Amino acid sequence: MSRLAGLQCRECGQRYPLQPIHVCELCFGPLEVTYNYDVIRAQVSRASIAAGPQTIWRYRALLPVDDEPVVESYAGCTPLVKADNLGKLWGLRNLYIKNDTVNPTFSFKDRPVAIAATRARAFGFETFACASTGNLAAAVAAAAVRAGLRAVVFIPADLEASKILNSAVYAPTIVAVTGTYDDVNRLCSEIAEKYGWAFANINVRPYYAEGSKTLAFEVAEQLGWRAPDHAIVPTASGSMFTKIWKGFQELYKVGLLEEPPRTRMTVAQAAGCGPIAAAFARGSLEVEPVKPHTIAKSLAIGNPADGYYSLRIIQETGGWALGVSDAEIVEGIRLLARTEGIFAETAGGVAVAATKRLVDAGHVAPDETVVIYVTGNGLKTPEAVADHLAPPVTISATMEAFEAALVRDRAGAAVVA
Ligand SMILES: *Cc1c(COP(=O)(O)O)cnc(C)c1O
Ligand SMILES: [Zn+2]
Repeated sequence: MSRLAGLQCRECGQRYPLQPIHVCELCFGPLEVTYNYDVIRAQVSRASIAAGPQTIWRYRALLPVDDEPVVESYAGCTPLVKADNLGKLWGLRNLYIKNDTVNPTFSFKDRPVAIAATRARAFGFETFACASTGNLAAAVAAAAVRAGLRAVVFIPADLEASKILNSAVYAPTIVAVTGTYDDVNRLCSEIAEKYGWAFANINVRPYYAEGSKTLAFEVAEQLGWRAPDHAIVPTASGSMFTKIWKGFQELYKVGLLEEPPRTRMTVAQAAGCGPIAAAFARGSLEVEPVKPHTIAKSLAIGNPADGYYSLRIIQETGGWALGVSDAEIVEGIRLLARTEGIFAETAGGVAVAATKRLVDAGHVAPDETVVIYVTGNGLKTPEAVADHLAPPVTISATMEAFEAALVRDRAGAAVVA
């Protein structure tokens, strides 16, 4: 029996062989990769993982690939930072930052894209494409280079300049569409069908999505094979959020965790695009689509495909969903940088700001192990904080000019004014 069971509809349970499809023919429900966990359990151990590469592929036994050569883009194995400075400020003794800003193209998207590229090549596609809110485009373009595939990436035309540059450098075809991400996505669904291209987050989405499980695997391994008590996840479509939870559960199913995970799963969104947070606030499992207005463009998906499943997980695990303002996002970015030396993009600011809200509301106990997922790098969205930072002190190259700029702080140390 194989490790991989196939694809299965999350709504009606219909099974399909592994192929590049993502929607159920019977009920239009989303398809998900299923596994034979008994087979995996017999093959995998903490030691076999430890002997693997320092990339997401150390968890290959739990990923949807067969014997084909994988696209090694060196994604994953990012630091789990013990955030003692920020923790002290908030009265938390076991606060961690999963620092995914240091992936090859500077966001967590390199994880799911490595799987999507591997499967796209194995299925025989020659063009690797995506509908992106920004970060996915860079990850797809870079992985295509490593996989020897042609890249075509679609983005909303109003994307941040740094994000466009971050893709353009890998020389893909970039198509900027005037409209929102949801418009881009709709167009790409039609293109995928007509042109037979592999779209990372459309027709090969079931494989792509599985890559985000590695964010759970790594955190558990880095905590000494333990799931955290609380995970705070910046959320757009809900794909990463639902897969992190699937990842923790799988570790238990295959015997890598001794106890079933009891992680509270919390969704962090921008108030300007927070359809999941709004449904949670209404006490509803029904997501109402919104039109995005937020500086957190990487989270600007108004109609989240996994919104309903995310709300179910929040309910099941006792988590929350919060929508934070643009001002709180900027403050979250600055706070993380000042306390932990990590420069996050707006999505990271969302996660930090949402955690602060939970702490202020008394929802986090001092000894809980809390992990904030910081999923993208600050150099992707410098305009978000540019106007909120102290400018440099400019002087001529003389000692007089330097000393004229010096003042003494309260402790008597020399500082530049
Ligand atoms: C894409 C993205 C997310 C969330 O994506 P989902 O659609 O919810 O999986 C979070 N952070 C960053 C930086 C992203 O680029
Ligand atoms: Zn179905």
